[in-house]
Amino acid sequence: MPFKIIIMEFFKPIDINKSNEKTTKIEYVSKHVKCLIIGSGPAGYTSAIYAARANLKPMLIEGIQSGGQLTTTTEVENFPGFPNGVTGNELMENLRKQAERFNTEIISGIVTKVDFSKKPFKVWVNEETLYESDSVIIATGATAKYLGLESEEKFKGSGVSACATCDGFFYKQQDVAVVGGGDTACEEATYLSGICRKVYLIVRKDFLRASKAMQDRVFKTKNIEVLFEHNTKEIVGDLSGVNGVVLTKKNNEEIKISVTGFFVAIGHKPNSDVFKPFIETDETGYIITKQGTSKTNVEGVFACGDVQDKHYRQAVTAAGSGCIAAIDTERYLSEIK
Ligand code: NDP
Repeated sequence: MPFKIIIMEFFKPIDINKSNEKTTKIEYVSKHVKCLIIGSGPAGYTSAIYAARANLKPMLIEGIQSGGQLTTTTEVENFPGFPNGVTGNELMENLRKQAERFNTEIISGIVTKVDFSKKPFKVWVNEETLYESDSVIIATGATAKYLGLESEEKFKGSGVSACATCDGFFYKQQDVAVVGGGDTACEEATYLSGICRKVYLIVRKDFLRASKAMQDRVFKTKNIEVLFEHNTKEIVGDLSGVNGVVLTKKNNEEIKISVTGFFVAIGHKPNSDVFKPFIETDETGYIITKQGTSKTNVEGVFACGDVQDKHYRQAVTAAGSGCIAAIDTERYLSEIK
């Protein structure tokens, strides 16, 4: 998507560092909006649809991967309303069109800096364009971590996945592997055990890091085999997709397991770094929201979707939380009027 040229609607000089600098640096505000949404996944677009229909005239910064994580998956079969499934790209394109239909202004670019210390909030895009807003909705999502193997990259979307709930169904009655030893890996392995014939859980240490309850579930499931102290060396396959994984044992011995699906479950990284100077996160970087709402520790800044959800991480839950964020924003703005 080509970078949009932003027409500076009005130029308002701000003195950004009066006390510390001898020379005053003037920055220009490209635009002041009521509601600024950061992120273009299901959470961001849903909040835009709701905010736009509530006449908040939202502006949405779409980020580095327009459409979010769903654009990296193929078929989405669990988003309600699509009896025959929908591709990730088509779903996101539809959400985008729906947001645009109600006049959401969509800006290409990434947020490189924010200042939430006072109102109006300031958001810099691509380091150079400054926007001001009365409220901000953070919907920047999370990025699945991958092992970093070349073969993993090669088979992404044709055997390699980072979401069992999204893609597990395609491996019905087949043998698959899950890599990781935390709660996500155990949860994914357990989920896949109900669909697949056999699930290998590849764990690099000699123990699982997951909670006791989750471990018990894994050990009790007959068609899950845990391979402790195994590392993934290479994912192998051909034009039709993955057909095996080469593993190395502690003594460097190599083995090959035959699988058609390889699920990476070694954690996610919430995309919250840029907000951390102002917004409270937990120890793993997920934004903390007040239970049952999208409210962050800064009044007027809301968060929705995967950036604040380590448990569910589904397109439909992200969309639902985007709706909550827009409603919270609308109420906040009407209270401060
Ligand atoms: P974690 O960080 O807890 O676990 C990551 C796992 O992946 C670890 O076992 C780690 O191994 C392994 N790993 C990391 N890098 C590699 C690598 N390069 N090669 C092989 N293995 C690797 O991430 P999770 O996503 O599992 O969980 C994140 C948080 O979310 C946790 O707090 C968890 O409790 C929570 N969660 C809760 C759920 C629930 O309550 N239902 C469900 C899912 C998550 P090692 O142990 O050796 O470091």
